[in-house]
Amino acid sequence: MTIKNLSWPSKEEVNSVLEGKIDSLPIIPIVIIKLLKLINDEKSSISDLEKLIETDQVLSAKLLKMVNAASFGIRQQIYSIRQAISYLGFSQVRSIALELALYDHLTFKLTASPFDRIFFWRHSLSVACLSRILAEVTNYSDPNTAYICGLLHDLGKIVFDVYGKITYREFIKNLPRFNGLLIEEESKILGISHNDIGAYFCRQWDLPEKIVLAVKLHHNQFSHIDIAKDDALLISIISVSNFITWTQGIGSVDILRHPILQPEIKDFIDLSTLDIHSLIVKMDKDIKSIAHFYNFIFPSTDRFRENLLKANIILSQTTTKYYYNNLSLIPQKNGNIKHIKESLIFPHHSLDRNVIIKSTLEAINKDLSFDRLYYMQIDKKSRCLVIKEILDTTEQGTNLLNMHIPIESSLPNFINCLRNKTPVCMTGSTLNEHRILHKMGIKEIAMIPVTNNNQIIGIIGIDNIESNRPISDIEISAISIVANELGMAIEHALLFEKYRTQASIDPLTKINNRGAIDELLSKSFKNAKETNSNLCVTMIDIDYFKKFNDTFGHQTGDNVLKLIASVLSKYSRPTDHLGRYGGEEFVIILNDTDFESGIFFGERLRKNIELLGKMLVKRFKGIILTVSVGIATMNPNIKTKEELLEKADKALYQAKERGRNRVVGYMESEK
Ligand code: GH3
Ligand code: MG
Ligand code: MG
Repeated sequence: MTIKNLSWPSKEEVNSVLEGKIDSLPIIPIVIIKLLKLINDEKSSISDLEKLIETDQVLSAKLLKMVNAASFGIRQQIYSIRQAISYLGFSQVRSIALELALYDHLTFKLTASPFDRIFFWRHSLSVACLSRILAEVTNYSDPNTAYICGLLHDLGKIVFDVYGKITYREFIKNLPRFNGLLIEEESKILGISHNDIGAYFCRQWDLPEKIVLAVKLHHNQFSHIDIAKDDALLISIISVSNFITWTQGIGSVDILRHPILQPEIKDFIDLSTLDIHSLIVKMDKDIKSIAHFYNFIFPSTDRFRENLLKANIILSQTTTKYYYNNLSLIPQKNGNIKHIKESLIFPHHSLDRNVIIKSTLEAINKDLSFDRLYYMQIDKKSRCLVIKEILDTTEQGTNLLNMHIPIESSLPNFINCLRNKTPVCMTGSTLNEHRILHKMGIKEIAMIPVTNNNQIIGIIGIDNIESNRPISDIEISAISIVANELGMAIEHALLFEKYRTQASIDPLTKINNRGAIDELLSKSFKNAKETNSNLCVTMIDIDYFKKFNDTFGHQTGDNVLKLIASVLSKYSRPTDHLGRYGGEEFVIILNDTDFESGIFFGERLRKNIELLGKMLVKRFKGIILTVSVGIATMNPNIKTKEELLEKADKALYQAKERGRNRVVGYMESEK
């Protein structure tokens, strides 16, 4: 297959994640591969199909049993495959045979594990049924191919579960709850993602290109790849079906991770005009008749309901965000509709924080005019709100820039706004409120919190000092939406500033590089000296890392580095600073942390990496991934940050000397 911009794992890479050599693995039997190949084979005839099915007696018997079941509605008894084909048609018999053969093969080992095969089969069948229905609705040329893609889309998960050095159930069991995309996590832990390995085998078996593409890309963006429109529609059908089954609580493995729909899908399927309810009703009906045949023991209704509930909660959170991000029309009291599109888009026009704030205030004013708008920031030290930016459309001339408003309990509205992160209108309900309003020359002020990740990062204030026009609730809720955008934009700008000015990120592990961590240590060291507070430095070095490089190649070595960096960052607190100090050496600065807590922290890291290593040992053929940790703490004798680092390094050396996979704290006596 010569599709531009598509990368494939090499044979060696696939071999390195599976138990046994790929050529010798009976992933699926020959009869299934042959059935799959019959798809779209112009030359294949009814008798080819008949012969193929009849070579497998169990399959033939099951097929006859299925087509004679009541749900197929054929009144006459069917005795032969040829008869079945003439009643149901070539393509439907082929799909049924395929489904039966896959089921037999894929669910042979049933276990009560997180990766429950029956549950998985139900997912595959649901996606298959729904894909066929969706193909009909969207006029895709070959609905039965869509059905087959649905059956196969998660083949990679089964491959891992049966043949993986790390099985899929182990992977699921060890999956952290709230981290990133599933396929990214798979690449990190298993070595290859399920869609890539599934597609690899489909390609290996010479299946039609469109099937390979749908399996490979059902979680990925595809607009940059040169593929036919029809194939893009097929991928969209599989992705959307996968997504919808998830909302029904029939996701393949992990109900807490909803699939992400690729943005380009909207060019092929218009979700807003789909009659999803009738799709699901049809799907249920299809599945019911099939389930009857398979004699499914479904997960108990309670489990199913619980899944459905969780799925719904997550989905509604997502749609709420989506709704607010897209809402741009604000109804007015007089029945008119006002656009606040400008204000929604403006925050994202720049990556300079000051420009963003200034232009957002201007845009808000353009959309919904007020006399004055300001942006305030919380100054933690003085416990005040400080006006940092002001847009004054009046001739009043009162300059409020840098005005400090104390945050105190006698301003209940104000406290409410900060604590609950909800907008408030202050009208002078307490004496203190009144005093502040008076100082600003106004009767009323609305304050709208600007948040990011549920943290307040600032406040937008508005007043009508000249016109005295009351501020309406609708205006406040419109500005809240803008404030949400502003919060995101500021956060992006801050990130950008950080990336650009320090060029501080290590490109491989995406954590601080040596320069950045040195700078952070300087700051922490200075602060600890000045305020006489605790400070620990942790040095972490991967044990026998060279072996990973030597045995599995540099690429795998790089992946191990990335994996360790992500574990370290997962266990670090927001106040800690993590960086890559050298090749396979990491540093974590623990601010305000005493020696004992530092050791405790280091031990926790070491233990968690050891646990991960125990799972990974199968993939890495007996080489155990562990780390050694050295810790040093601040004391009055230490004059420079270099001394502190050196002590952590010495402790690390001790940890290596004493046998590795351990934590050692630097003791003065060990000088
Ligand atoms: P020890 O337990 O004593 O720490 O043994 P070790 O093998 O981990 O330590 P050693 O310092 O001998 O080897 C470190 C290796 O790390 C050598 C170098 O090739 C490799 N390395 C350094 N940077 C990178 C990198 O960015 N990617 C990869 N893949 N390897 C790297
Ligand atoms: Mg799926
Ligand atoms: Mg090492």
